[in-house]
Amino acid sequence: MTEFGFIDRIKQLCQSLPTNSFEGIGDDCAVFPINSSESLLFTSDMLIERIHFLREAISPYDLGRKSLTVNLSDIAAMGGQPTATLLSLSIPKELANSWVDDFMRGYRDLSEECGVALIGGDTTASKGDLAINVTAIGRVVTSNIKRRSAAKVGDTIFVTSPLGGSGSGLDDILRGEYTSPLARLHNSPTARIKEGVWLGGRDDVHAMMDISDGIASDLRHILKASSVGAEIELTAIPCHLGAELRHALSSGEDYELLFTAHHSEQFVNDYLTQFGVTPIPVGKIVASEDITWLSNGTVQNDDFRGFTHY
Ligand code: ADP
Ligand code: MG
Repeated sequence: MTEFGFIDRIKQLCQSLPTNSFEGIGDDCAVFPINSSESLLFTSDMLIERIHFLREAISPYDLGRKSLTVNLSDIAAMGGQPTATLLSLSIPKELANSWVDDFMRGYRDLSEECGVALIGGDTTASKGDLAINVTAIGRVVTSNIKRRSAAKVGDTIFVTSPLGGSGSGLDDILRGEYTSPLARLHNSPTARIKEGVWLGGRDDVHAMMDISDGIASDLRHILKASSVGAEIELTAIPCHLGAELRHALSSGEDYELLFTAHHSEQFVNDYLTQFGVTPIPVGKIVASEDITWLSNGTVQNDDFRGFTHY
């Protein structure tokens, strides 16, 4: 079964459970309204040694920051401001105290930079690999929440920055090049929190998510949730300097935002004024199902898929 097969199965097996006013499984975060205008957002992500990272290829400081970043990215992807986290660690017995101190310095520094509290967690020993689980909580004006299900036919599909740098950096790491510029990018991604909150406040932005498994995979989540399709112009896909198209389409961990919006000069200019760069259009939402890949407007027979764990 694929990762998403497992999630569908879990969802199906547990659909008889009460929702208790939570909007649950399926988006980047779960949503819980707290008053007439605001909601809390909840999300959880694990980083497992030898699946998500090699201990020798990333500094404990960077791993501390990255463990938080991947969670903050999901809060940003719903238009929210992160407020607190819970951190659970399964620590191999041989790991030095100084390693844990450096990990926590990274986690603390990014928490401080983003104004996020650490409110709890759990700590256990591990007989094998290191495991890190973070649960992040965010706050959002309920009407600003951007769901995967809100894409509209005619929307332009945008990404916040060039893609594939992280995937190309992973190739470097797997070749033993741990300190190349792209390996460093892979080890220290940025969550687009300011962009997510700003995009959340825009009525012309409809669907949004973060890119953790490659646009070829993640866009399909928006399409499925919104019951629409997409045309993607391959020549418009922005590749990070040093990355190839296959990285930009199919590699994970860029943590850029993927969103659909009513495309106007005003929207692009407002974004430019706010962030000093323009959002990058890569295609449009159409009524027909799935993704049609185009190259200079001509339909391509290739299909592209994103990263999957299974
Ligand atoms: P993301 O990449 O944004 O973190 P995922 O693809 O990991 O999202 O998960 C998709 C959805 O499935 C999310 O709503 C997530 O909370 C939910 N999910 C994933 N794994 C589980 C699980 N084991 N039990 C319940 N919900 C899960
Ligand atoms: Mg996500």
